[in-house]
Amino acid sequence: MNKAGQQDPSGYFLIEEVFFNDLRDPSAIDYSKPILDWLKNSKDEALKKWECIVSGEMKQKQKALLGSASISHLPQFKAVDMDKMRFCDLRFRLGAGYLYCHQGDCKHVIVVRDMRLIHPEDVQNRATYPITTFQLKLRFRKCSVCKIYRAEKVTVDDKWAPMNPCYFCKNCYYMLHYANGALLYDEFSVYDYHHE
Ligand SMILES: [Zn+2]
Ligand SMILES: [Zn+2]
Repeated sequence: MNKAGQQDPSGYFLIEEVFFNDLRDPSAIDYSKPILDWLKNSKDEALKKWECIVSGEMKQKQKALLGSASISHLPQFKAVDMDKMRFCDLRFRLGAGYLYCHQGDCKHVIVVRDMRLIHPEDVQNRATYPITTFQLKLRFRKCSVCKIYRAEKVTVDDKWAPMNPCYFCKNCYYMLHYANGALLYDEFSVYDYHHE
């Protein structure tokens, strides 16, 4: 994203009813604003969607039959600046799925899975927290053609490729698609590939 000049420093965590907006970068924008505006300006639509989410399809059918009055209320969503909050300020439920959204609409579910008291063998110095206890290893694919070199390109809907999508090292990619420096056919998409 940095390389393509499309890095967007904005983002938010939605935990329970609070948007924690990442506004540390001066160019970051408040992603929660259009959502909160929509909640305010389209209350009926928002409430309908909310009811669908909380009661599920079955209840909706029951309600249509029985015509019971709505009793659910929209949560009182609000927004705060993320950098003014600490982890100990959060109110959350263990195991509940919360949302992290960044880079426009890239969404991740975050879950606080476990909580416990500090043990004697834990680092006792508060200042060292938060501590990373697990880091996913980066996975690098090999070229699907030579199966020797690390892949640097990936093609999609490429009829000359043995699979879709297909991963190529630079050598194999240029050998298959180019002759004397000229592209032989272009009815496919190609992207730079770095790692999983
Ligand atoms: Zn993402
Ligand atoms: Zn190769």
